[in-house]
Amino acid sequence: MAKKTKRKIAYRKLPMQGQLNLRQEGKHFDLGVLFNQLNKRYFRGRVRNYKVEWGRRRKHRPKDHFVFGTIQEQDRVIRIHPLLDQAFVPPWYLRYVLYHEMLHSVVPDKLLRSGRRQVHTEEFNRRERAFHSYYRARRWEEQNLPRFLR
Ligand SMILES: [Zn+2]
Repeated sequence: MAKKTKRKIAYRKLPMQGQLNLRQEGKHFDLGVLFNQLNKRYFRGRVRNYKVEWGRRRKHRPKDHFVFGTIQEQDRVIRIHPLLDQAFVPPWYLRYVLYHEMLHSVVPDKLLRSGRRQVHTEEFNRRERAFHSYYRARRWEEQNLPRFLR
């Protein structure tokens, strides 16, 4: 009986530890490092109290669109799609995705007269273009999108 209990405890710990490691450090990219670099270079370190992590792998891939990154401003979590943790993904593309989400945390949304919320405002787009590989990244995304879809 005692043995059984022990094993159970060990088993319960393992998946959690695995998760912790997977949170920021992927196989190819460490999101924590990239976040700090971007924060310093583009935001004067002002993006604070945000967690950045790899999202969970899903069984099914989308057919027609792909969400590379998300930001939850209430929980202050930025999630990057785990399929970006691959050798063929250029680091400057991953940085661009992360930069885009970080930018959301500092550029306010705009409430339109229709009542809709605009997140990619003129101000947002202008600042997004300030990213050093913006055009290269957009082109890469366009050309490589099919590799992420089913
Ligand atoms: Zn966005």
